[in-house]
Amino acid sequence: MTKVLQQFLTENLSELRRQGLYNEIDKVGTPNGPIIRIHGQEQINLSSNNYLGLATDERVKAAAVEAIRNWGVGAGAVRTINGTLEVHEKLEKTLALFKGTEAVISYQSGFNCNMAAISAVMDKNDAILSDELNHASIIDGCRLSRAKIIRFSHSDMDDLYRQAKAAKESGSYNKLMVITDGVFSMDGDIAKLPQIAEIAEEYDLITYVDDAHGSGVLGKGAGTVKHFGLQEKIDFQIGTLSKAIGVVGGYVAGKKELIDWLKVRSRPFLFSTAVTPADAAAATKAIKLLMESTELFERLWKNADYLRNALKKLGFDIGRSETPITPCIIGDEKTTQIFSRRLFEEGVYAKSIVFPTVPKGTGRIRNMPTAAHTKEMLDRAVSVYEKVGKELGII
Ligand code: PMP
Repeated sequence: MTKVLQQFLTENLSELRRQGLYNEIDKVGTPNGPIIRIHGQEQINLSSNNYLGLATDERVKAAAVEAIRNWGVGAGAVRTINGTLEVHEKLEKTLALFKGTEAVISYQSGFNCNMAAISAVMDKNDAILSDELNHASIIDGCRLSRAKIIRFSHSDMDDLYRQAKAAKESGSYNKLMVITDGVFSMDGDIAKLPQIAEIAEEYDLITYVDDAHGSGVLGKGAGTVKHFGLQEKIDFQIGTLSKAIGVVGGYVAGKKELIDWLKVRSRPFLFSTAVTPADAAAATKAIKLLMESTELFERLWKNADYLRNALKKLGFDIGRSETPITPCIIGDEKTTQIFSRRLFEEGVYAKSIVFPTVPKGTGRIRNMPTAAHTKEMLDRAVSVYEKVGKELGII
């Protein structure tokens, strides 16, 4: 290794380790279902985004296996050369039906989708109003576009209104866009889309909602925009296929002309190979299952309400959660990490989230109940929470 790289790595890695910020990665020895094995120990899993249990669903697995038999394991090219197999087309058509939009373009991940879509439309003569708690991929997508980034306080509609007005009246920008997560991933609160849409109308803002945590969860599965009945007001509905859908990939759902533009101007679509046939077929199957029945969706909400109420009843602070993402706010970073470790020792896997991912002093354990958990699993988790909460003087 070159000397300069060696020095950079040694200095920075040791500093991270000194601050306790070097995240050792847990290796999971089982499929990512409601019970997982980590370091040889069985755990009730409250940390995966597999909201509906579809990542391990037999019907979805069978669709992937069949696609490998029929189409092979790789797409073979980028979408615009000859990597658009019929399975990719089918995925996009099914997604458009699911979301109730004219068209859909799919990408290799939700992260990559934000990098692709924002910079295909916005440039250095534009400005983007972005919620301060937006996901990292939105932040990076905004940076890549070279537009001016104007952050507004989290879900603070007065602040958004004031800053949108100032940006519009300054006359300094060609286009303005407002971007928000549909459901915020660290707190589980829902964006105030009706007010955002009103402000957008008043100041000609392009509207962009990243619904990674809302799709499959809100609006009977179709997402946050549908939940509020705002399909005609939101230009970009971003989704991921890696959370509720259980596979991998990302997409933009919107009007046909928007999708046509993204197909010729978004760089990951033009320059990176498409998802595998197995991914496309598995995601298509998962979405079809959600369109056929609301059973998984209802089970998810039943479990989420059950866990949320049980933790609240014990005296835990679950912050502003309105969705299955259920944080337990502990406070200082050290206690939060001890709390998570004690949960692990007692057989509950729920990760701690601390500064810098969330503000200092708001360390939390983030719980993700899914449709696949049984009542017995949730009861067991709650009794461990009670034990550890009392032991550490949190409740
Ligand atoms: N957007 C949001 C709001 C997310 O929470 C995530 C996942 N953490 C992503 C995008 C990225 O999605 P993916 O994992 O499909 O890349």
